[in-house]
Amino acid sequence: MTTCTYHRCDTPNPDGITLCHADAQRLRDILGWIPDALNTITDTVARMDRTGSDGGSSSGDHAEAVNVDALDAKIDLEEKLGTWARMLLDDDPSEDLRNVAPLTYLTLSIDLIRTVDYAGDLLDELSEALRKVTRAADTQTGTIQLGPCLNVDDDGNHCHGRIQSRRDNNGARCTECRANYDATEVTQYRISESWHRTAPLSTVVKALRLAEVPVTIHAAKQWVKRGHLEPLAHAIDGTALYTAKQVDDVRRGVTRNRRAA
Ligand SMILES: [Zn+2]
Ligand SMILES: [Zn+2]
Repeated sequence: MTTCTYHRCDTPNPDGITLCHADAQRLRDILGWIPDALNTITDTVARMDRTGSDGGSSSGDHAEAVNVDALDAKIDLEEKLGTWARMLLDDDPSEDLRNVAPLTYLTLSIDLIRTVDYAGDLLDELSEALRKVTRAADTQTGTIQLGPCLNVDDDGNHCHGRIQSRRDNNGARCTECRANYDATEVTQYRISESWHRTAPLSTVVKALRLAEVPVTIHAAKQWVKRGHLEPLAHAIDGTALYTAKQVDDVRRGVTRNRRAA
């Protein structure tokens, strides 16, 4: 028997398997999220460069400092991918994947990763590096990203800007066409769009409440406890993930049962 090498896991595995099933899935998820995260941070850095260059000198300096953090996070993640890919290549008896990019190589080599004794460290470092990238993109300027602009011009072309809101007020604005939005309204619209997207229970409940669906976090936790509500997936840190549809279905069911009783 071999125990899982991911920190604090210790799940017993068959001989020679160093990463348990759940953590192998976690690794697969993380590798799958990395391209998107890298795109977002590259965008953010490009945008900060733009705003930094035509802003005033003091705000420009600040933007630059924040930008360095974002760039650092991006470079760090890319370096870690390269380092782990090289390390794994040394243990790879096959020559087939010598020339593929690190992320692709790691993604195609999960079975091999599950047999090396540094599997847990690899998962740990990559998830931490990914978390840093995501955090840098989010906290960049104290703004909340509300997704793509909803504006369509007279010719039917969609605006390519993003709607951003400041953390401290409810106004929101497009980065390109500068259209003003009501942050709550945008959030409600996004909920209808993201009905099937997974998020932690508290986020899903908050989103539903914003859309005036009568549900409390206490009730939702009870549904989980009683087994009415089961997570569809798990986040990098093990947080259980649900969809708004799922929670709302249970809520309707519960409401219906109560009426019937
Ligand atoms: Zn494990
Ligand atoms: Zn716009």
